[in-house]
Amino acid sequence: MTTLFISDLHLEAGQPEIGEQFLRFLGRDAREAEALYLLGDLFDAWLGDDDPNPYYGTMKSALRKLSDTGVPVYFMHGNRDFLVGEVFAAETGITILDDPTIVDLYGTGVLLCHGDSLCTDDVEYQKIRAMTRSPDWQTMILAKSLQERIAFALQAREASKARGELISDEIMDVNQDAVRAAFRDHEVDTMLHGHTHRPAVHEVDLGDRQATRIVLGDWYQQGSVVRWDADGPSLESMPRS
Ligand code: MN
Repeated sequence: MTTLFISDLHLEAGQPEIGEQFLRFLGRDAREAEALYLLGDLFDAWLGDDDPNPYYGTMKSALRKLSDTGVPVYFMHGNRDFLVGEVFAAETGITILDDPTIVDLYGTGVLLCHGDSLCTDDVEYQKIRAMTRSPDWQTMILAKSLQERIAFALQAREASKARGELISDEIMDVNQDAVRAAFRDHEVDTMLHGHTHRPAVHEVDLGDRQATRIVLGDWYQQGSVVRWDADGPSLESMPRS
């Protein structure tokens, strides 16, 4: 059996080919999987589980269909969809995971995270992250009407664009000290994340041991997946066929 990991699809109605590939992936690959992990930025934006946009309805139905077949689906928040909440989880049958989470994959302890927490060189972003992940801030935002939240998100997006965050190449890469600290703090040798849109498998020298950091790619031009089975992980791109 194989466990699947994807991230950074940035699903949005204006990019239908991404959603179509995701729906095919859920209907084929994921059906055969032992579990599916969505490691953040599944959605390009998420303004609250009460958003009635039918595009989201389509995606929710497909996730529900998968979880109803008995495939466990795990979801971790990204920096775009951190407002995905328990209503979404109940509607789709997914389980929301903390960032980070350690899972046992066929005998290997693996640290899963979205990846933005490792980008510590972007000091301004880390401040925003701390604010937007706090329960108080989220309660405050979700108390606003959907229309107010849409206006707020547009404003935030403009600010983010001004800082160069929207263009994938300009997302700051991880900080190597933060990576090494994560390996040491969590006492693991393997880490898997997305966010940077730089798919790769990195060997990391921790001095006393070697560790591996696997980075998922985004879905802008093709899909990106890690397939993990008893033989280990395989990072693959999936052409849009
Ligand atoms: Mn991200």
